[in-house]
Amino acid sequence: MQFENSLAFAQSLDQKDALRSYRDQFHFPQLNGKDVIYFVGNSLGLQPKNSKAFVDEIMEDWKNLGVEGHFYAEKPWWDYHERFSSTLSKIVGAKPSEVSVMNTLTVNLHLLMVSFYRPTSKRFKIICEEKAFPSDQYMLASQVRFHGYDPEEAIVTLKKRDGEHNFRTEDVLKTISAVGEECALLLIGGVNYYTGQVFDMETITTAAKAKGMFVGWDLAHAAGNIELKLHEWDIDFAAWCSYKYMNSGPGSASGCFVHERHHGLKDIPRFEGWWGHHKKERFLMAPEFVPEPDVNAWQISNAPVLSMAPYLASLEMFDEVGMESLIKKRDLIVSYLEYILNEVAKEVKGNFEIITPSNPEERGTQLSVFLHGYGKDIFHYLMENGVYLDWREPNVIRLAPVPLYCSFEDVFRFGEVLKAGLSSSEL
Ligand SMILES: *Cc1c(COP(=O)(O)O)cnc(C)c1O
Repeated sequence: MQFENSLAFAQSLDQKDALRSYRDQFHFPQLNGKDVIYFVGNSLGLQPKNSKAFVDEIMEDWKNLGVEGHFYAEKPWWDYHERFSSTLSKIVGAKPSEVSVMNTLTVNLHLLMVSFYRPTSKRFKIICEEKAFPSDQYMLASQVRFHGYDPEEAIVTLKKRDGEHNFRTEDVLKTISAVGEECALLLIGGVNYYTGQVFDMETITTAAKAKGMFVGWDLAHAAGNIELKLHEWDIDFAAWCSYKYMNSGPGSASGCFVHERHHGLKDIPRFEGWWGHHKKERFLMAPEFVPEPDVNAWQISNAPVLSMAPYLASLEMFDEVGMESLIKKRDLIVSYLEYILNEVAKEVKGNFEIITPSNPEERGTQLSVFLHGYGKDIFHYLMENGVYLDWREPNVIRLAPVPLYCSFEDVFRFGEVLKAGLSSSEL
């Protein structure tokens, strides 16, 4: 498509946008009486207007029913988590029995590593990406130490080539080959949080499994953003937070996936609790643990339904829209943002470098931009002028025009604010 840098053109794209009505289903923060341009849905998604009703329903049931709400609430609390599996499984490409909601992301990764990181003196290494999200780095290092190994020796980081911003699949495969039988686990972020690069999860998973490693993916920036086929790709486990692209609210419950191959095993190591006990016998309070036959065997505590409620609300919208149309709009709006950035760069003679891959197959909703020669002032200028985005040292801005609620007009207006900011003599 031939893009134009004009308000009329952006508005014409909005007119043709099949998802445009969804914008009205979200609350936007206001600045000077106007909706902000919200490009930080990769950090915290906006609040869908229907989510309050889902929370209120639980507050009402609790008020009116007390403990009886566990079984007699409108949506009973004791198996509330099961309401997610059907919709969520479609979003991540899994069977309903493989997907559940519990805890929070880093907690889930720790718990899943109990099952899928079982080091021995010959096979104790972990492959992850260099500069992984800090929480993942802390998690991996502490797990390695917990098992009595040295993170310096055990953790092998995938490297980028000098002068390049993204990982090459061929280099990842080389590392997998080289570490081979010494590697117990490969655990990478499916979409890199800093650059927005999407890894070729299928190819990498296949290669790692051929060497006998367990394979897990941290899908924090992937769930609700890119197409996933967790079951088909034969991934062992995955987890994601729901408050980024899935709009479930701050600190809301995390999703997790365990391939059905690992269900129903008697001796799989796992930290267990009563919510993972077989549903039919959970309240018999018998001394012996009988696991749920599916991913819910990994459940531990009774479901924090108040924090899960907005996630369930949000899934209704995802189900209605479907990932396919979401991805279609995503590709168009991200390409338009890329075009606008390049136009602005020409006009202000700015030295921008989009470090996210230009191939749509290798990116999702986020573009990360190096603003060479500009300081953090430009970030403050944008925020003060109604563009919410984020800043990562040394001088990278991350922009996520989320397809459910961002418009092409937002992208155009962002370009105007950026241009004004970069041209202003104060910066
Ligand atoms: C956002 C994010 C997290 C956050 O973890 P929490 O446990 O939800 O705080 C972890 N890993 C990655 C890759 C992330 O992007």
